[in-house]
Amino acid sequence: MNAPRAPLRELDQALAELLAHAEPLSQTEAISTFEGDSRVLAQDLVSALQVPPQDNSSMDGYAVRTGEITEGATLPVSQRIPAGSAAQPLRSGTAARIFTGAPVPEGADAIVMQEDTESAGDDRVRILRVPERGQWIRASGEDVTRGSVVLAKGERLGAAGLGLAASIGMDTLTVTRRPRVALFSTGDELVMPGEVAPADMKPGVIYNSNRFFLSELLRRLECEVSDYGIVPDNRDATLKALEHASREHDLILTSGGVSVGEEDHIKPAVQQLGSLDLWQIAMKPGKPFAYGRIEAAHFMGLPGNPVSSFVTFLVLVRPFLLKLQGATKLAPAPMELVAHFDLPRPDRRREFLRVRRDAQGGLELFANQSSGVLTSMVWADGLVDNPAGRAIARGDKVSFIPLAELLG
Ligand code: AMP
Ligand code: MG
Repeated sequence: MNAPRAPLRELDQALAELLAHAEPLSQTEAISTFEGDSRVLAQDLVSALQVPPQDNSSMDGYAVRTGEITEGATLPVSQRIPAGSAAQPLRSGTAARIFTGAPVPEGADAIVMQEDTESAGDDRVRILRVPERGQWIRASGEDVTRGSVVLAKGERLGAAGLGLAASIGMDTLTVTRRPRVALFSTGDELVMPGEVAPADMKPGVIYNSNRFFLSELLRRLECEVSDYGIVPDNRDATLKALEHASREHDLILTSGGVSVGEEDHIKPAVQQLGSLDLWQIAMKPGKPFAYGRIEAAHFMGLPGNPVSSFVTFLVLVRPFLLKLQGATKLAPAPMELVAHFDLPRPDRRREFLRVRRDAQGGLELFANQSSGVLTSMVWADGLVDNPAGRAIARGDKVSFIPLAELLG
């Protein structure tokens, strides 16, 4: 007899419950700034200096005192200031030859760009256009002021963040350690590409696709992945693998075998070793989801259908793993875009539709939204987060989540 169906759980509630279990990891490590992409800062980065350190020129040209010059004035050139050198105070009635990035000499209040000058011979320059005060000068501290927090604890670093950290002199960064994740695939129907050629596939057998995108998604979240492959379909092997994984990992992630009433070995094994809740989440794709614990390790069971597995990973597992790392931003902000499609018969559950932006900035819908059609995930550049029961007509505003942000 099948177990009674659990009532559907709202996605927001399920996510909140899940996140309540995600105690951020306390261990940190110091890494090279070069290696910091996608890692989460474990402390505020406070600047010990101004950036730029001094007022400097944003042009090749001549530093002048604007109050002293008029159009056509000819000035002796009293010094030459290339980038990387120190400047002397600007002598009254003179101009200083200056190059981009070089410090502005004391007393000068603007730069005349080279194109607005001509040589007047004998180391003299003619000013063809008088600049405004402050023109072509980058002010000290206009990027970063001394003592300010340039990147806060909980910031997940990207390429620009690494550059900013370097600009205040950081060659190492203190980040949260990587979460250790054990990945299992379940299902007797699964075989590995490379092990069986397409022509030799027996009836009922399919390739294990989830293993490939799940391990890649985990790596992009900076997890250390132990890939246990397809767990053999017997109780002892399952128990042994889970027991081993629970000692070494923060999260054990499985795909498949969490549908209601399904016989499989993961479910009873997790229950024997720890605790397990089977959730029916009111979302499409991806209704079944399991959360549990074995000793200190979290356990999450994703549905087996590839698109369900992919989408539940993005909306539930991803924020969980980010919170484990202490990240403050757990999900991208959705944006409002216009539907260039109709959805006359919406699902009773909240639905994540595979869509793509068209040249007009509106959204097209992939024709087959079935949870087994992985082609839809490749075609899509985003998901529409559609509330339960809401029909969509062409021209309606919908909530769009760019996949580029979810996959990074
Ligand atoms: P399940 O959640 O185990 O009931 O699986 C639902 C569907 O997803 C079934 O059609 C499975 O064959 C398929 N499936 C399960 N695991 C995988 C996997 N790793 N790769 C591809 N398809 C899978
Ligand atoms: Mg299965």
